[in-house]
Amino acid sequence: MGQPRGLRARWQDLRERTRPVHPETERALADRWAALPDHVRTPAQSLGRHAVGCEGTHGVFPKCNLTCTPCYHSADANKVRVDGGHTVREVSRQMAYLRERRGPYAHAQLIGGEVSLLSPDDHAAALQAMRDAGRSPMSMTHGDFDPEYLRALVTAPDGGLRFDRVSFAAHFDSLMRGRRGAVRPRSEAELNPFRERFVQMFRDVGAETGLRYYLAHNMTVTPANVGQVADTVREVVGMGYSMMSFQPAAHVGDERRWKESYAAVDVDAVWAELERGLGQRVPYEGIEFGDPRCNRLGFGFLLDGRWHPFVDPDVPAETAARDAFFAHYGGIAFSGTPPLLLVVKVLRAARHHPGDVRTALRWARSLLRRAGGLRALVRGARAGRLGLMTFEVHSFMDAEHVAPAWDMMRRGIAAEDPQLRATQERLAACTYSMAHPETGELVPACAQHSVLDPVENVELRRLLPLTVV
Ligand code: SF4
Repeated sequence: MGQPRGLRARWQDLRERTRPVHPETERALADRWAALPDHVRTPAQSLGRHAVGCEGTHGVFPKCNLTCTPCYHSADANKVRVDGGHTVREVSRQMAYLRERRGPYAHAQLIGGEVSLLSPDDHAAALQAMRDAGRSPMSMTHGDFDPEYLRALVTAPDGGLRFDRVSFAAHFDSLMRGRRGAVRPRSEAELNPFRERFVQMFRDVGAETGLRYYLAHNMTVTPANVGQVADTVREVVGMGYSMMSFQPAAHVGDERRWKESYAAVDVDAVWAELERGLGQRVPYEGIEFGDPRCNRLGFGFLLDGRWHPFVDPDVPAETAARDAFFAHYGGIAFSGTPPLLLVVKVLRAARHHPGDVRTALRWARSLLRRAGGLRALVRGARAGRLGLMTFEVHSFMDAEHVAPAWDMMRRGIAAEDPQLRATQERLAACTYSMAHPETGELVPACAQHSVLDPVENVELRRLLPLTVV
């Protein structure tokens, strides 16, 4: 009698595990979509249909040992001691809340001041806490640390790997001061050896240990360095990063570090420089992520030095495939799911939509035609000249607009002033949230940095003074 029940339970368990989208993710996606402003509910919108949005930590290690102009951190950030126990406790608390609100899978950034000021063990414990909450963590760094740190971070006491894969976003630009070997860089070009060395460090540790990694390159853009973006793209694009992300500077954070007006550099200016650097158009209209005034993204791959988008917005066969993907496969966790399990999940979703096979073939044919054919793809892969590459511009907003707009939103007031209304629209479609379990809020990073960080850091300064009495 017990045997059939056991079998039934196992079958039920298998059905649950191979369910394409977790029910909590389904709920989180539906909530996200329902709360989005009308103007971002476009066919290209991935937020609320495939992604719940990115997440980040706050108040976990505010201190940094470089000085940037501008700097998004509040004036008190560097007066807070880095304390591994506090970091791991806070990260665990915030991630548990995100798990509860947004389901069992999301990308999350371990971000604060400088992550490598944590000891390797504390850094590893924070990453593990994020993974335990179903998050796929990315460590945000200035990149000025040694291979010994990376080795200690990824190696367990028994000599094995702590993590099969790590993700880092390394911030390099000439507005940063204090990097060893480039204390006051006079140009972006001066930093290229450091950008290269960062990737090489991962290659070396990967060759030694089998570690897999994903690396993103971040760069703040102001009127002072916008003219060097194209050259930087040309130099960096083949270095081994899988993402190049640019942040046009905003007036947020420590006012003492604002050196000029940043209004002249916007998303269009940076995108034009990106295209100039690559010598080709980079279409971004195929897939949107939140409000286009906040995020512009080109998802695609590099083959033999030329970039190709996954979805060409001008080709109906490709946008039809995107539409079918969002409608039938949106919410499936494509990264972080074991390959065999992923195949079963996709097949379970596909069996209800037999027409998708033809849609997928049309998309593949169109993409291969653009990329030079299957042979070129295979040749490129064999020669190591094929790789994923995402381009992104993320434009934070000025604190003087965010603070009143956010305050009104919390009180349920829709702004009438056009500037504040636009700010509210963007905050409502935010793709980058931070958890506040104590108030039950998920806060856009713009509001976190503009409104909450200064207060939080004053308290943290008291809790974690630099000098322990
Ligand atoms: S953090 Fe700010 S700029 Fe980024 S998506 Fe959210 S509202 Fe937009």
